[in-house]
Amino acid sequence: MHLPHLARAVTLELPAWLDDELADVPDVIPTTEDRVALVNRLADRNWREGNGGPFAALIAERATGRIVSVGVNVVLASNISLGHAEVTAIGTAQSRLGAWDLGGAGLPEHELVVNWRPCVQCYGAAMWSGITSLVLAGHGPECEELTTFDEGPMIDTWVEAFEERGISVTLDVAKADAVRVFEAYRDAVDTGGAVVYNARQA
Ligand SMILES: [Zn+2]
Repeated sequence: MHLPHLARAVTLELPAWLDDELADVPDVIPTTEDRVALVNRLADRNWREGNGGPFAALIAERATGRIVSVGVNVVLASNISLGHAEVTAIGTAQSRLGAWDLGGAGLPEHELVVNWRPCVQCYGAAMWSGITSLVLAGHGPECEELTTFDEGPMIDTWVEAFEERGISVTLDVAKADAVRVFEAYRDAVDTGGAVVYNARQA
């Protein structure tokens, strides 16, 4: 085996269109509702751009609403199955702060905002990130029913498991808006305008 033949980095790069999409977004978004509205908006544009699935996330300082990072699903653009919105938001926040623990000493508390409940991968990724708050636009069967993405075998007690680790969970802040994004995506899949990329179908 020759090391030069092996990749030496994992790059989950966020798309260039985020620059203009975020141009009118302030550095601080004080309300939960407005932070959720931003992730719903980014999720909708993300699939339309062909970047990946209809998913977006952000990390904010809990007390102030200062935006530390945003993330979108980049699975199709990167060819890396890890590239979910939660992972790109957590990773870019940690990279910016130089901290693998967003709840570490000397840091303010951080919140992860996502447009739907995490899949099995992001359940773990969120739990180990150091956030103390998880805010979801929606949760429930609508995501899998409309998008047909397999979110994996989530345990029924996932909310309790977060809260046992000091991570508060806020559900269904703007569920109807989140569902509308999935409905538009569903229509596009049905007419050949978008791709569902489950690696393992049940
Ligand atoms: Zn995920």
